[in-house]
Amino acid sequence: MPAATPFRGAGRYAPSPSGDLHLGNLRTAILAWVLARRSGRAFHLRVEDLDRVREGAEQRQLEDLAALGLDWDGEVVRQSERGEAYTGAIGALSARGRVFECYCTRREILEAPSAPHAPPGAYPGTCRDLSPAAREQGRERMRELRREPALRLRTEVPRWQVHDLWAGNVTGTVDDLVLRRGDGVVAYNLAVVVDDAAAGVDQVVRADDLLSSAPRQAHLAHLLGLPEPGYAHVPLAVGTEGTRLAKRDGAVTLRDRLERGESAAAVIERIGGSLGLSGCGDARDVLERWDPATLPRHPWMVDLPD
Ligand code: GLU
Repeated sequence: MPAATPFRGAGRYAPSPSGDLHLGNLRTAILAWVLARRSGRAFHLRVEDLDRVREGAEQRQLEDLAALGLDWDGEVVRQSERGEAYTGAIGALSARGRVFECYCTRREILEAPSAPHAPPGAYPGTCRDLSPAAREQGRERMRELRREPALRLRTEVPRWQVHDLWAGNVTGTVDDLVLRRGDGVVAYNLAVVVDDAAAGVDQVVRADDLLSSAPRQAHLAHLLGLPEPGYAHVPLAVGTEGTRLAKRDGAVTLRDRLERGESAAAVIERIGGSLGLSGCGDARDVLERWDPATLPRHPWMVDLPD
């Protein structure tokens, strides 16, 4: 029997260590922490370091989250250390005939005529039902390109539904998504599902650019016999041009703000302000005062003094 914990379920924050966290990332992290703590859930941190890793970024991100008053339970999990769990999940799907090799290049997928009703860029099913001889040709081609075939999920449903705290029931396309890429790296959609389930995460709070990925992730959890989490997707932060907040928008990270003489408390106050709260100096103030029903449903436009 698993050891008894004082928690009912778990939430998490899962940054990619590609640079310092900006105000939009920090706002999402605070909301993930608040929603978990409010509901008696554990809160876990997972570093999504399969891709786009910048030296030292993980340490800096953890320091920034702690500086805002967030705490987390258990060890920080790193995806780069979880290869066996991912291989096990692909093996389990494969044993049930749910995995096929794909020899297409990205370009071929983009240029192929797409299936009716499929979103642009969706996988057209090219390698799903190849003959053994065509597979042999595909593998030969991969050897020439010095690539592995990608592994894809053989999907049998076109759509899946998830529940989002703010968006309600959301039905989205499920396609033959990549499980392992041609460069051998496990795909984000698989890793996230395996990791959330292993950590007992039943509440996924993250930015809403990932809302459209939630149905395929929940479907994958279902196929793996894992519980499907509930979701809460937070609107993105944007710069004054209306595009996703980024370095080009100026001093947008906690460290930039501190260098300009702002305190961590002032940064939390800004984030609290974006949630309709005034005078928050610590994440705990947000925890005590914020009502999730009031979350603005439009992107947060971050307009900072230099
Ligand atoms: N690592 C992703 C990001 O930083 C988040 C993935 C997730 O929360 O599922 O955008």
